[in-house]
Amino acid sequence: MTGTAGTAGAVTNWARTITYRAREFHRPRSLDELAALVAGSSRVRVLGSGHSFNRIADPGPDGVLLSTAGLPPVTEVDTAARTVRVSGGVRYAELARTVHAHGLALPNMASLPHISVAGSVATGTHGSGVDNGPLASAVREVELVVADGTAQVMGRDDPRFDGAVTSLGALGVVTALTLDLEPAYEVEQRVYTELPLEGLDFDAVAAAGYSVSLFTDWREPGFRQVWVKRRTDRSAVDFPWAAPAAGPLHPVPGMPAHNCTEQLGAPGPWHERLPHFRAEFTPSSGEEIQSEYLLPRSTAVDALYAIDGIRSAVAGVLQTCEVRTIAADTQWLSPAHGRDSVALHFTWVRDEAAVLPVVRRLEEVLTPFDPRPHWGKVFEIPSAVLRGRYARFAGFRDLVRSLDPSGTFTNAFLRGLLGLPDTDGLTTDG
Ligand SMILES: Cc1cc2nc3c(=O)[nH]c(=O)nc-3n(C[C@H](O)[C@H](O)[C@H](O)COP(=O)(O)OP(=O)(O)OC[C@H]3O[C@@H](n4cnc5c(N)ncnc54)[C@H](O)[C@@H]3O)c2cc1C
Repeated sequence: MTGTAGTAGAVTNWARTITYRAREFHRPRSLDELAALVAGSSRVRVLGSGHSFNRIADPGPDGVLLSTAGLPPVTEVDTAARTVRVSGGVRYAELARTVHAHGLALPNMASLPHISVAGSVATGTHGSGVDNGPLASAVREVELVVADGTAQVMGRDDPRFDGAVTSLGALGVVTALTLDLEPAYEVEQRVYTELPLEGLDFDAVAAAGYSVSLFTDWREPGFRQVWVKRRTDRSAVDFPWAAPAAGPLHPVPGMPAHNCTEQLGAPGPWHERLPHFRAEFTPSSGEEIQSEYLLPRSTAVDALYAIDGIRSAVAGVLQTCEVRTIAADTQWLSPAHGRDSVALHFTWVRDEAAVLPVVRRLEEVLTPFDPRPHWGKVFEIPSAVLRGRYARFAGFRDLVRSLDPSGTFTNAFLRGLLGLPDTDGLTTDG
């Protein structure tokens, strides 16, 4: 993605599984340029770092795709207030380095630091940890440019705030966010191998570190690897359920471990241990499709056995499956809204025709557990079903209507989700 404007024919997502169908692609260099572009366009979607796997960012053939990557990066740390104001297009790797240089830290990070802050919180992106909410839970204020080109600022005391951070990009362009910070801390990361599913005490395993991830290829029952990230300023918890790995590992079999953050218990800064993947290397495998579902945490073991029941179908198209935990949050459209969650993530092979039937089968066996899909990944659950899984869905739809009555930021993905006819405008009920 280069240049300030042009056609979007060649703009793809990171995984090269989606080519955005925009009429024009713009990369404004200033907030004034951005505001004028938004005010002068009838259909706009914003692109962060493009790490989503579905058409959530796709404006459609008549729309404008607007990248925030060309805007001047802002990262203003307030050490006294322990906050940072960051522009939406900044990636977590850069944000984390700046924050750490001030002796401060984010509460958590996703598996990779390559993703933009605004794009991540817009889809409910999360790391792991029984007490850690999604990344959006650190946001205390959001700054938007809405459809008429004017700016809106919403803080936690604004009744619209819980609809405005995990917003799926439906409200406007997020130009900046202010995040809560805490004093910098160190983390040590250890990987354990071969944890059986039989007799799994999921709650105890998930609580054995600040952030815990279980990985499996589903070729056999149970987990091939468990990644335990412990804060050195908290008391250590034993891990008696599996043996420590002899050397560093990558969660995708066959991929080089040097792409991953340091393991074997060497303490290091929070931002060099909480993500699995190093900022300077390709994260994950690169040749992939991803899906993920958040379920009530109390159902984790039953849900794992349900997947075990279709293990060979899943294993046939899988690179790796990761199981994490996320604390409940308050964002209306957060997949962790109102419930402590377990997240079941799947890195599939990059073959949509082979993967989609397995995704549908997986969704069938997970249905009793009320799964909410990650908004940035591949899912097939019908929109009408999804709407029923969010108690505050109507509030979100009202917020979209009030901030964007002509549907400038609404694309086919959102029209389906919101239950609106596939026409211009947002004033007609679907
Ligand atoms: C290798 C890999 C590993 C991943 N690991 C994790 C993980 O550990 N945990 C997890 O939860 N997810 C994970 N994801 C998914 C990823 O975090 C999400 O897809 C996230 O949304 C990516 O951020 P982005 O900036 O690339 O967003 P994009 O894909 O660019 O956009 C996502 C959405 O945000 C909107 N948006 C982006 N910027 C703005 C803005 N400035 N204003 C308004 N709307 C905006 C877009 O319109 C779109 O709707 C992973 C993805 C990959 C490729």
